[in-house]
Formats: sequence, C-alpha cells, structure tokens
Amino acid sequence: MGFKAKARKNKPQNADKGAEKKKSSAGEVPCAVKSCDRFADKKLGGRSLSFDDATEMWGSGNFVSTEGRVRVCKSCYRAWKKENKNDDMY
Ligand SMILES: [Zn+2]
Repeated sequence: MGFKAKARKNKPQNADKGAEKKKSSAGEVPCAVKSCDRFADKKLGGRSLSFDDATEMWGSGNFVSTEGRVRVCKSCYRAWKKENKNDDMY
C-alpha cells in the first residue's frame, strides 16, 4: 500500500498558546548536593551517582539520595569526576 495520506499537515489551528513550558535553562530536578542550587536534569547534563560515590565526595548528610541514586548537576558531576579520574574519560 503506497498511499498514505500525507494530508496531515493541514492540521487545524489549535490553540497552542501557553504550551511553552520549556524554559531554556530551568530544570526540574534539583541537584542532590545541598550546597548546590543547580539542576540535575538530564537535559542539563545532570548525572546520577551511587550513594557510596556521593558519600565519598561530599560526605553523608551533605546530599540527598533518591532510591539509592544521587542526582547531581553537571558541575557537581564534573567535580566528582575530577576526584575520581582513575577511569577513562572517553
Ligand atoms: Zn550540583
């Protein structure tokens, strides 16, 4: 069947206003490190570390964990990575 209706383009003008939730740099997931107020959203480069990793880096009580994972922002992750650069960085 080679004939798919391509006429989808003509969609009615729905009110698409106000649907712009996506702000450029605001995130939804706060960084787990308490002294940090950035966001750990994936789209912002956030990563998750294990509880143990985070404890070694920031000390217990200085971050919050979510179900055993610790969501940190990009810069916290980079800080952690720097301290733990025994791994390859590729
Ligand atoms: Zn952070």
